This record gives sequence, structure tokens and C-alpha cells, in this order.
Amino acid sequence: MTDVFDRATETEEALRADALEEQARRSGLRGKTFSDSATLCLVCDEPIPMERRKAVPGVQTCVECQTMLEGGLK
Ligand SMILES: [Zn+2]
Repeated sequence: MTDVFDRATETEEALRADALEEQARRSGLRGKTFSDSATLCLVCDEPIPMERRKAVPGVQTCVECQTMLEGGLK
């Protein structure tokens, strides 16, 4: 029986985590997550590396464009 309970708890926790993440994403009150990151750069349409998307949750541009935007709007 313990196994059944453990498995049920795991599933429940996973579902709860998903629900919380979804809620956070909708409310916009919490920090962005990796899944909020764009797969393609908004500026140049180049694919944004997975590592960057994970490192910068919610990122919308590639390194080159980010650097350009930050440096070019002074
Ligand atoms: Zn770019």
C-alpha cells in the first residue's frame, strides 16, 4: 500500500507544481520561467540557445541583439 500512496503523492505534487507554475505565469506576479523564454529572437529571428533560455528566464532576444539593444539605446 505504501507504494501506491507514494506514487499518488508524487503525481499529486507534480500536478500541483504544474498548476502553480501555470497560475504564476497567468498572474504574472512571479518570476518568469524557462518556458516563457522565446525560442527565436524577436529582433533577428535567430534561434535562442537552450542554455541562454534557461539562464535568462523570459528572454526574448539573442545575445547579440540584447547587447545591441542595451548598448544602442543610450
Ligand atoms: Zn537576435
